Amino acid sequence: MVEYAMIIDGQKIMTQATVGVINPAIEEAFAQIPVGTPAHVDQAVAAARAAFPAWSALSYNDRKARLHQLADALEANMSELMQLVTQETGKPMKGFGDIGSGMEVGGAIAWLRVTAETELPVEVVQDDDEVRVEVHRKPIGVVGSITPWNWPLMIAIWHYAPALLAGNTVVGKPSEFTPATTLRFAEIANEILPPGVLNVVVGAGDVGAAIASHPDINKIAFTGSSSTGRSVMQAASGNLKRLTLELGGNDAGIVLPDVDPKEVAQKLFTVCFHNNGQTCQALKRLYVHADIYDEVCNEMGAIANSVKVGNGLEEDTDLGPLQNKKQLDIVCELAADARSAGAQFLTGGEAAAGPGYFFLPTVVTNITDGTRLVDEEQFGPIVPVIKYSDVDDAITRANNNPAGLGGSVWSRDVERATELAARLESGSVWVNAHADIQPNAPMGGMKQSGIGCEFGYWGLAENTDIQTVKIRKS
Ligand code: NDP
Repeated sequence: MVEYAMIIDGQKIMTQATVGVINPAIEEAFAQIPVGTPAHVDQAVAAARAAFPAWSALSYNDRKARLHQLADALEANMSELMQLVTQETGKPMKGFGDIGSGMEVGGAIAWLRVTAETELPVEVVQDDDEVRVEVHRKPIGVVGSITPWNWPLMIAIWHYAPALLAGNTVVGKPSEFTPATTLRFAEIANEILPPGVLNVVVGAGDVGAAIASHPDINKIAFTGSSSTGRSVMQAASGNLKRLTLELGGNDAGIVLPDVDPKEVAQKLFTVCFHNNGQTCQALKRLYVHADIYDEVCNEMGAIANSVKVGNGLEEDTDLGPLQNKKQLDIVCELAADARSAGAQFLTGGEAAAGPGYFFLPTVVTNITDGTRLVDEEQFGPIVPVIKYSDVDDAITRANNNPAGLGGSVWSRDVERATELAARLESGSVWVNAHADIQPNAPMGGMKQSGIGCEFGYWGLAENTDIQTVKIRKS
């Protein structure tokens, strides 16, 4: 069976004991990886620290060129990486709405290239006969990256690319559920980057915790659940690490009565079932006006019944399995709770017969706030659709949640929808779209969905410390 090693100081590191990486569509291991420990974190941090002076001393253009080389290498290995992503996450190669492994690897390439072209210019605050005041951006040092299982390659690139471009070195840790693509990427990247610049270790929560608390790591980029984010923040306080936290969401969409129900249902389905609902910014609660409620729900139900759920390696699969058993159990539990609260299931509602962590795409009606499926993040292929009559009330309910990642308003009246969207308490809002992210615009969470942001100049700047330079001319 194929093995993927950790990469520390440019070397492949295996351990005597190994652990299997499970394909969630068949519940069988397809690869073996080493058993990483906090001692490997220490080695990786020492390598990253040793590589930092030379890497940060390279010119910005040199580092930019390396990022483009990484993108070239991803392009050259795209089909192998897509296959790996599908094997470890379960997502289809193409998938419903083209949201599959092709999007994951293609997105990683796009983010590398756009990040590479993002500048960190010196800003001049004042320049007169007496003084010149400049604001410089300096690399922070060693950045620790901890990533989740839903978009393992793309999110790793979201962390690594800006950290490296700004002149930092990196110690990454993928989720123990999906380590293979990240390890393979690290192997490819180490043919391009000097040893120690990008190290990737694996392991369970203790390895993540060792990164979060390590005294020689200067910043943590963490993407994952809000509860783990809180632990990371606590552990990071020892040496006052800088933090970028991208955490869980419970994104609401508000659908106004003037839309074409059939047309909007197709778009809503795509963003509710984005990566089988396992996307931080998937639409997780829908508020649909009473005038069009039945039509929108029925259309979404018809689409849910028509999609093909199966093994992502099969060409015509629209939606794959949940990535892991724990997540499947959460989805089953929320479905059971909604059922006992009297909700109506237009489709699905249960796990499919195994093997594989499959849950049928599910549209739930006759449900409202106060039910766990509405109030909590389901992170799976089940969406509650809530009926409303007063849009102000819908906005209040959308905002009445600790999460604040994304939100959207759907209407033919773009001006009104834009005004309403601005009232949503979330880091990103969209009009007639959702999860419509791009590499040159910031993405971050309000409230308990995170701290700081990623992407564009703003995300890049989070990988730096400010140095103010004041020059007295006389
Ligand atoms: P987790 O929070 O469980 O895990 C995220 C990462 O943290 C994993 O690599 C995990 O390692 C690691 N980890 C676990 N315990 C610790 C610890 N004590 N200290 C440091 N690291 C630790 O999230 P999931 O992987 O389950 O991902 C799903 C969640 O992530 C959802 O809630 C989702 O909303 C959120 N998410 C947010 C995104 C955003 O951009 N806002 C994007 C994607 C997901 P291991 O798995 O090896 O235990």
